[in-house]
Formats: sequence, C-alpha cells, structure tokens
Amino acid sequence: MTMIQCISPIDGSVYAERPALLLEAARDVVARAKKAQKSWVKRPLEERVQLVLKGVARLNEMVDEVVPELAWQMGRPVRYGGEFRGFNERSNYVATIAADALAPLVIEESNAFERRIEREAHGVVFVIAPWNYPYMTAINTVAPALMAGNTVIIKHASQTILVGERMVRAFNEAGVPEDVFQNVFLDHGTTSALIAEKSFDFVNFTGSVEGGRSIERAAAGTFTPLGLELGGKDPGYVMEDADLDAAVDTLMDGATFNSGQCCCGIERIYVHESLYDDFVEKSVAWVSNYKLGNPLDKETSLGPMAHKRFAATVRAQIADAVAKGAKALVDPKLFPADDGGAYVAPQILVNVDHSMEFMREETFGPAVGIMKVKSDEEALSLMNDSKYGLTASLWTKDAERAARIGSEIETGTVFMNRADYLDPALCWTGVKETGRGGSLSVIGFQNLTRPKSYHLKKVTA
Ligand code: NAP
Repeated sequence: MTMIQCISPIDGSVYAERPALLLEAARDVVARAKKAQKSWVKRPLEERVQLVLKGVARLNEMVDEVVPELAWQMGRPVRYGGEFRGFNERSNYVATIAADALAPLVIEESNAFERRIEREAHGVVFVIAPWNYPYMTAINTVAPALMAGNTVIIKHASQTILVGERMVRAFNEAGVPEDVFQNVFLDHGTTSALIAEKSFDFVNFTGSVEGGRSIERAAAGTFTPLGLELGGKDPGYVMEDADLDAAVDTLMDGATFNSGQCCCGIERIYVHESLYDDFVEKSVAWVSNYKLGNPLDKETSLGPMAHKRFAATVRAQIADAVAKGAKALVDPKLFPADDGGAYVAPQILVNVDHSMEFMREETFGPAVGIMKVKSDEEALSLMNDSKYGLTASLWTKDAERAARIGSEIETGTVFMNRADYLDPALCWTGVKETGRGGSLSVIGFQNLTRPKSYHLKKVTA
C-alpha cells in the first residue's frame, strides 16, 4: 500500500499521511459519483447553490483548526488567517450569477418553433488541486461545478493532503450528500489510469506545466474536456507616470506574499529608467521588513516555503543568475532564520537579463528580478519573451495607454495599478504554457457544463 505523506516545512516531520486508494477502490468512488449525479442534477438550482454556501459557511466555522493546519502543511503564517476572504468571495459571487449563467439561451419561442440552447452538467468533475492556495484554487471549480449539477471528486496535493478531506467533511456536514462531493487520496499512476479509462466527464488540473502535460497525455484519445491552469512568470511594468509607492507596495507584495508561491505572483519587473533607482531602493526596504520564521508564531510575516525542494529551486536560480552577473540586494543577515532549507530569505536581483533562468523559468519563491527599460516597446517585448502568460501588471495613470499595451501582451489577464488578485467576475485563464480553459465568471460555468440544443417544431392543427 502506498502512503501519501505531507512533510511539514516547519520542521521536516511527517505531519500527516493517508493510504492511497487502489484502482478498484477508486473506480468505486467514481461509480458512486456517477450514480449520485442523476439525482443531484434534478434538485432545483437554488437548492444546490444554498447547499454549497452552507458548506462554505461550515468550513468557516472550522477556522481555528484550518489556519494552523495550513501552516503545518504548507508554511503560510497563521497571522494571515487562512484563505477565507478569497474562498468566501469566490463562492458568494458564483452563487449570485449561477441562475443567469446557467439560464437557457432562447432563440425563438413562437407558435411555430421553440429553439433554445440549454446548459447541461457534464456529469462527474474531477478536481486535481495544488498546495500553494489549497482552498482558493479548489473552490474555483468545486463551487460552480456542484452548483451546475455535477458531482465532484477532489484529489488534493500531497503537501496539503488534509485540505480535500476537510473541505468534503465541511460540505457533507452542511448537507451536500456524501457521494456528491468526495475526497480521494491518489498517487499519480492511479490518477492517470482513471483519466485514461474515461472515468470523468471533465477534469480540472491546477498545478505545474509538467503535471498538466501528464494529465493531457493520460486523457489523450478519451475526449475528456480539460481545464489546465498551470505555471506563470508574471511581469510588472512600471511606467514613468506611475504612482511609485503604490507600485512598490503592490508589486513587492505580489512577488513575496505566501513566500512567492502564487501562480500569479510577480516574478519579473520592468521599470522605466526615470523611476528605476527609486523603485529598487524602496523595494529593497519593503522586503527587508519581513520577519522570516516559524509560521505558527504570530510575529512571523514570511513563512518557510512549502518544501525544501521548492526552496532548492529558488536558491539554484539565484546562484545561477549571480554567477552570470546579477547582483543580490537584500542583506541575508537581516534573515537569520534562513536555514539553507525550506526557510528562504526574500531577495531582489538587479543586473539581470533574459539569458538567466531566473528571468525565464517560474521561480515560485520570494525572489524577483528588476530590469531597467527605456520604452513601452522594450517593456512589451520583454514581457512577451516568456513561454507563460497568466497575468501582467501595468503601472500608469493613463488607462488608454495600459489598454493599448495590454492588447499586445500575450496573457490571460491585464491589470492596471493592481496585481496578484483573482476577480471572480472575470475569467481566470492563461495562454501559452500557462494552460487553457478558464474558471470563475460566467465562462467558468460554461466550461463546467455543455451546450444542448433544443429545436422543437410545433405541429399546427
Ligand atoms: P504539481 O506538482 O503539478 O501538483 C498539482 C497537483 O497535481 C497535485 O495534486 C499533484 O499531486 C498532482 N499531480 C502532479 N503531477 C501529476 C501527475 N503526473 N499525475 C497525477 N497527478 C499529478 O503543482 P504544485 O507544485 O502542487 O503547484 C504549483 C504549481 O501550480 C505552480 O507551477 C503554479 O504556478 C501552478 N498554479 C497555477 C495556478 C493557475 O491558476 N494557473 C494556480 C495555482 C498554482 P501530488 O501533490 O500528490 O504530486
């Protein structure tokens, strides 16, 4: 029997472990989900919506357990109070638009014809979730999928192995039937085997590009629709008319919050030459204020990375860039808790360029590179010089200019004067290796359902 383990970044201990399901048992879970979907989808939409919201409310009641459990599993400091704000905001928003988003599109209703397009639930939706924002990333699909009449099976990351279990417990306790929302512990082989034998009617995978490729390979030939929300290397561009302090505050937060482990975290910044020196100086001061340490300590504002192997990637990218001429500006002495393992001091690199892996590959850590640019054209060409495209954050007082530049950026979301935020009313989507599909918003509901056309010709007497 394979055990799936969560090694805590706090102290390297095994914090939790669960036996992985064998294929036969996993098939049984799928069969129950398929059966339950038939009656779940027949319940009125409003009833499904209210049950999901009750599940969300039940999870909120568990806050005292959820917050330290998150710190133990993936290192986020308890002072931030978990992910309830975004989790609730997204759930509540999709609840308010569910009826409109799922309403039939009526083309004709006359004495001669009824012609309309209805949205029909896919059936069983499989959610494969990452550890970095384990509740928020999962709810993006779980809430609208259930509301739309699908049953859902969730497989959470090993690092946050307790999150799927806890979400399902909260939802089941709130009245969502057990077979309608189920948690599974699966290894990669069984996950792929289930997908390959067409167990699911839709699969949403949020995670790394490599993981996304494996899921796509497993699904090949099954025609299972996939939503793939993968990695990023999101840029910020600070123009000469930007509000400098606001740009520093938001971009540094975007680069380092959650120890930089955010899919839409800021990973590279281009600053107009007129603001460059001030921007760099203020940014170094900003990140130097962090207190790195044990996430259970209320004073800690920067926790360890989720695993020392993720920290090793960050350290290796920084070392490689420095060897190629980059300059590291944050004084490591300010961060005595940096242990060479999971606890990583924040870092800002200058003298960087795109020959360095640090400026091309996802870093997913509390480190960011800053480059000086002379023009919009130069910034645009650098922003697009990436295999990823999730978000881009533009800093200017000129909305027209931002829209013009934004139209040329190969990205899923264009921000002006903000960053690192999922607006549930907008579609969360990426281009290039960041994936395909889209979640949240009306479009999220469309992706979790399929169109069904009704073309009814009336017989006239
Ligand atoms: P990951 O290693 O790809 O894992 C994501 C999930 O997929 C986990 O549940 C993992 O299970 C599972 N998984 C990975 N490879 C698999 C395979 N070959 N077969 C079956 N299951 C597989 O990613 P992560 O390290 O958890 O998350 C960080 C990545 O997610 C970053 O690249 C980040 O940018 C991306 N992300 C993207 C978005 C977005 O919206 N675009 C949002 C959040 C995160 P195990 O944990 O058991 O391996």
